[in-house]
Amino acid sequence: MKPANPVFASLGTTIFTVMSALANEHGAINLGQGFPDDEGPADIREAAAKAILDGPNQYPPMMGLPALREAVGEANRRFYGLDVDWQKEVMVTSGATEALHDSITALLQPGDEAILIEPCYDSYRPVIEAAGATVKAVSLQPPHWSLPVEALEAAFSDRTKLIVLNTPMNPIGKVFTREELTAIAGLLEKYDAYAVCDEVYEHLVFSGHEHIPLMTLPGMRERCVRIGSAGKTFSLTGWKIGYVTAPAALMEVIAKTHQFVTFTTAPGLQSAIAYGLGKDDDYFAGLAGALEAKRDILSKGLAEAGFEVLPADGTYFVTADFRPLGFNGTDEEFCRAITEQAKVAAVPMSAFYSNDSGDAPTHLARFCFCKQDGILTEASKRLADWAKARAA
Ligand code: PMP
Ligand code: GLN
Repeated sequence: MKPANPVFASLGTTIFTVMSALANEHGAINLGQGFPDDEGPADIREAAAKAILDGPNQYPPMMGLPALREAVGEANRRFYGLDVDWQKEVMVTSGATEALHDSITALLQPGDEAILIEPCYDSYRPVIEAAGATVKAVSLQPPHWSLPVEALEAAFSDRTKLIVLNTPMNPIGKVFTREELTAIAGLLEKYDAYAVCDEVYEHLVFSGHEHIPLMTLPGMRERCVRIGSAGKTFSLTGWKIGYVTAPAALMEVIAKTHQFVTFTTAPGLQSAIAYGLGKDDDYFAGLAGALEAKRDILSKGLAEAGFEVLPADGTYFVTADFRPLGFNGTDEEFCRAITEQAKVAAVPMSAFYSNDSGDAPTHLARFCFCKQDGILTEASKRLADWAKARAA
């Protein structure tokens, strides 16, 4: 039999599914895969229920419901001062994952190079490689995770078509600074390249930090594709509603990939998210504030259990060094051990790195804190008890 496409045939199941399955098997608290453990805002769910009952429920327009595209255009203006023509520059997708796929495949062709900043979300690389392009990875290193601008420039070449930029950044909770973004913008102009900006955590940014879309920097309006996710902004990860903002010329091509991937997305959910994006500023500030409090609960609990906890300035995640607990194995071994023995699941940091550079840290675990306070306290307690029992 002829082999299937090696890009996909050689892949394992994503680490999120693996750790969630292990958590279920062992009855562990699942702080692995990133999803909130509440049901999301009741008014948005009611809006969806009503829209589904009232209809229409047949294929909505390929680019997305006008109401949602208009709301995305308006959110660009309201939060970032971006002037967007929603009719030509906004498209709705089935989750940010689809938006990433559509954007990357619309831009790349065989022979191109694409730059990734690791650690990164696991969907980027296979999509780039399936398009016949080559990944050039630049890695960030703990504890500061600062952008190595020289190494980044070394990854650029005349063949560089795009960089994927994720800010706020999963898994490390980094929010790129204006200075870092300016350095990236300079390289994009110098090498005539694009940025696919994964900004799904745009509203999950904590005190003292600001989310700056690369698209707002001088010269970047025409080079950036900006991707958002209702899953994160409204704590409705299962809905899989994403949205893309891109200059009209790029959007035309991205829409061509979308038309053959999903073509469109459930209209009732789109209409509820259009309503959600219109919520007042208190909603967005409240979301970030509530998550920040959860970050603090889990960070404190992990520190008390003996971890060295790294800062998390945004996202759902905090990373922690487990070596102070006296655990000398790898991060994969650690995450397996705590899931099976302490009954708390986390995700190993090395899963977010490729093996290209061989410099993936193996002493960090990523913990998800968008859970009820009592769950975070209980998870911390279980980890502290486990660490104590091991030390005894
Ligand atoms: N990008 C990043 C960095 C993510 O963490 C996620 C989370 N799942 C996604 C994209 C995908 O978002 P969606 O669920 O909307 O497809
Ligand atoms: N983005 C989520 C995380 O990092 C998971 C998404 C998924 O399961 N594909 O945990």
